[in-house]
Amino acid sequence: MFDKILIANRGEIALRILRACKELGISTVAVHSTADADAMHVRLADESVCIGPPQSKDSYLNIPALLAACEITGADAVHPGYGFLSENARFAEILGEHNLHFIGPKAEHIRLMGDKIEAKKTAKRLGIPVVPGSDGAVTPDQDAMAIAKEIGFPVLVKAAAGGGGRGMKVAHTEADLQLALTTAANEAKSAFGDASVYLEKYLQKPRHIEIQVLGDGRGGAIHLGERDCSLQRRHQKVWEEGPSPVLDATARAKIGNTVAKAMQELKYIGVGTIEFLYEDGEFYFIEMNTRIQVEHPVTEMITGIDLVLEQIRIAAGGDLPMTQDQVVINGHSIECRVNAENPVSFRPSPGKIQQYHPPGGLGVRIDSAVYQGYVIPPYYDSLVGKLIVHGKSRVECLMRLRRALDEMVVDGIETTLPLFRALVREPAIIDGDYHIHWLEQYLAGQKAD
Ligand code: ADP
Repeated sequence: MFDKILIANRGEIALRILRACKELGISTVAVHSTADADAMHVRLADESVCIGPPQSKDSYLNIPALLAACEITGADAVHPGYGFLSENARFAEILGEHNLHFIGPKAEHIRLMGDKIEAKKTAKRLGIPVVPGSDGAVTPDQDAMAIAKEIGFPVLVKAAAGGGGRGMKVAHTEADLQLALTTAANEAKSAFGDASVYLEKYLQKPRHIEIQVLGDGRGGAIHLGERDCSLQRRHQKVWEEGPSPVLDATARAKIGNTVAKAMQELKYIGVGTIEFLYEDGEFYFIEMNTRIQVEHPVTEMITGIDLVLEQIRIAAGGDLPMTQDQVVINGHSIECRVNAENPVSFRPSPGKIQQYHPPGGLGVRIDSAVYQGYVIPPYYDSLVGKLIVHGKSRVECLMRLRRALDEMVVDGIETTLPLFRALVREPAIIDGDYHIHWLEQYLAGQKAD
């Protein structure tokens, strides 16, 4: 097992990793920018190192500064969390070159899945169903039009290097295609430095359903069921739940086993998520995330497995915690991402939290790094915290979520709590009857159908 882990992240995920380390008896090193000197992960870690000024590129993305922090503190492994360097294959390699463990998958798997075109090809080869589309990158010429016609409009132009919903444009008709191709390519070029784009059939009312996997890197892999993340705004997840209200045990086992088998073949190591769109009973692969995800607590609540702790154990050479037969899905869980944003305009609202009261009680969990008097800096994402609830059934979970949301107090800044208080009372949400465009339609004041 590792002796000392450096946590190359901030906010709630840094605290989440720190908790797992403490329970494993591993010493912790927090790193922070000058803007995060008062952050909770810094206060609770055994040691801390300031790695640079507020801008992420100068601090949390500053590889030489992170290496120096490992050297100074004698850390033997680095946990990247999510975002920042978590899906940077080169960072994983550089750590290896310095005899440091990267707590995550092999660099080759990060690289493979980071290129969406290669990822899709690999998924197809491994027997995972994919969205119909171009076999590889397309250029804004005739062949794009021919492919689009073959797939059938509407089509979606997507960036090969995409992430966070950027570089994605829908073409509803033939006339829209040229513009969609050029705008997506330009956006991709400026956001990711890579203009390659590909085409996919644009699914009209799918759900976003993702499968959590855990691999040992030696050909062993299990799946831990699904999370339904269909409630999205600008392709960003807002509310996640598991199990999905639309999957039964047979459908879950079928897609889960397909994915687990693919991960066994890849000899994948650590935690990973295979994301699908789901429409009319069919799954379509969209991408794989080779890291711990923001919404991982949903799976923890329904399986009882500490994913971050297992991720660390496995990175240190440990075995899978259980066999597939031993995985039991218990009850229902919902996570709300409470952001420091205006609940209507979604304008970020950084600033000082004057009053803070997190809800509690049976089946209520808060993953957050804020406290009363904490100042949310303007430089990073606007997550205040994740409210996660668990219940024996979906109904119990919704009722518990309703009371937990009503109990939670975050004053001094604007938050998205009012949006969640409204959503938990919406008939379509209560019925579990929503798709990936539902929230945008709801927010636009249209009657979502
Ligand atoms: P990113 O890496 O940018 O997040 P994804 O491929 O994961 O991109 O897609 C993000 C979201 O975009 C999905 O959850 C879904 O809402 C939407 N999306 C992606 N592909 C399609 C598609 N073929 N049809 C309809 N919506 C899609």
